[in-house]
Amino acid sequence: MSTVTPDNKSRRKARPVKDDGNPAVSSEQAIDDALAHADAKPHAIQGHEDDDPTPFIHKLIVLITVVAPLVGFAWAINLAWQAGAVNYFYLGMMGIGWLLTGLGITIGFHRMLTHRSFDTYNWNRLMWAGIGTLALEGPPLAWCAVHRKHHQHSDQEGDPHSPHLHEEGVLGAIKGFWHAHAGWLFTQNWDDKLVNKYAPDLKKIKGMQSFSKYYLYWIIGSLALPAVIGGLVMGSWTGAWLGFLWGGLGRVFLTHHVTWSVNSICHIFGKRDFHSDDDSRNNAIFGILSHGEGWHNNHHAFPTSARHGLQWWQWDTSWMVIRLMKAVGIVWNIRLPSEKAMAAKKRTA
Ligand SMILES: [Zn+2]
Ligand SMILES: [Zn+2]
Repeated sequence: MSTVTPDNKSRRKARPVKDDGNPAVSSEQAIDDALAHADAKPHAIQGHEDDDPTPFIHKLIVLITVVAPLVGFAWAINLAWQAGAVNYFYLGMMGIGWLLTGLGITIGFHRMLTHRSFDTYNWNRLMWAGIGTLALEGPPLAWCAVHRKHHQHSDQEGDPHSPHLHEEGVLGAIKGFWHAHAGWLFTQNWDDKLVNKYAPDLKKIKGMQSFSKYYLYWIIGSLALPAVIGGLVMGSWTGAWLGFLWGGLGRVFLTHHVTWSVNSICHIFGKRDFHSDDDSRNNAIFGILSHGEGWHNNHHAFPTSARHGLQWWQWDTSWMVIRLMKAVGIVWNIRLPSEKAMAAKKRTA
């Protein structure tokens, strides 16, 4: 089967061809090995994680992480509704924050780190990893390790967040949806063991471990920054409070649920254009809202592709930004599936 075609001046040798139409990527053997995990078909690697029981403190932190943005967003809407305490500045802060931190997840955590779908300078890597960390979805190493595990076992036993591993019937479907959306967060250990198994290559990237080490400060910064901006621009404590609600908690709420919807909705609702060994779907609504990640069946069929919206009409903001970075020369070795690889996996029925 054919391989991807780096669409620019290649600074590295051609990659060996793998049987899923995607190449192993990056030049180091260690990275190739980790990517083999990431691209492996379900059960290609024997045995699942014997997850240790999730510590209580972990569950408590996750509970706060899930509930606090919801409360903040509801509070912001309530203040807007009852007291008119909203304007374009606060909404703009939320919108820009959602776009930027969302791209940090999709470009930085997902396409650049987890799947190594393009190469770039380390300063650019760290910049995108930092922007993604502000989304408060965990530090990059843990996020990538969980996501590689998802690809390894996708919709099979061992998948951290499949909606399809519950009992039959309506109740099973509801349970499955909740588990895939946010329930799984309470059951998954984000510890070093997972990172060592699934992302040893990423650990070696200079500076990448600092996001895990100083994650608490990233949380504080992510929520404090919009409060400071709101306070300074509006010149009041009310401005700081509304900045915190809209640009902080409200923005985190949006980004979280959009990301989680890729795990839940995009494994249930949408079209399956390619054979992919799982139940991933292309969903146009989340293609747009999640900056391209909703073309999730495309992604599972071609995990290392830097482009998820493979058709011209499949909106993919992340791909547009990657192309822009390529145009200015700070990104290279972009992986894309060849026409032949796409034709081979195309579903006809
Ligand atoms: Zn998936
Ligand atoms: Zn992925």
